[in-house]
Amino acid sequence: MSRTPEEGHTKACLARAMVSAVQNMRDADYLTDHDFRIAAQNNDALVWADSYLADGLCDCVCPPLPKRTAQLVVIGPNLLDQSKGGMHVHAYGCADTHKAEYRFHDIDTSTPYDFGSEREVVEFVYPPSDFDYDPETELASYADDIYFYPCAVTALAAVRNAGQRVKS
Ligand SMILES: [Zn+2]
Ligand SMILES: [Zn+2]
Repeated sequence: MSRTPEEGHTKACLARAMVSAVQNMRDADYLTDHDFRIAAQNNDALVWADSYLADGLCDCVCPPLPKRTAQLVVIGPNLLDQSKGGMHVHAYGCADTHKAEYRFHDIDTSTPYDFGSEREVVEFVYPPSDFDYDPETELASYADDIYFYPCAVTALAAVRNAGQRVKS
């Protein structure tokens, strides 16, 4: 279990990485006593700790983060009713996925995927590398073909809200 830099590390985790980084720097021949003092004054150890954790030189010991993904099903293509879009997205287990309109899509409705955002769904259905487009600027035209039902919108909103409370 390791956190991304955006998610941040707990103080306990950072302190552990700082000790490890400072000890390595102390023992490294290329760092003079003077350099070592300057680094201490500049609080470089915190930067070292972050990079140690990012590079896996020190294990992250933070507790697991709250769940950051929603279980959704992506149904389509070839839907009976395509007026809303070629692909339908529901929360996994939503009662509507058992409706007759999806009767030819058993595999889709029974196969949940973990998604963290609407964008991840769009990139899953239409991978930018396969469809040769730039997701930064052209995602919207692909998103138009994917209809998110309220159950899916709610599930993704819950993931977003959980993500805002990760700092500890
Ligand atoms: Zn950590
Ligand atoms: Zn639904």
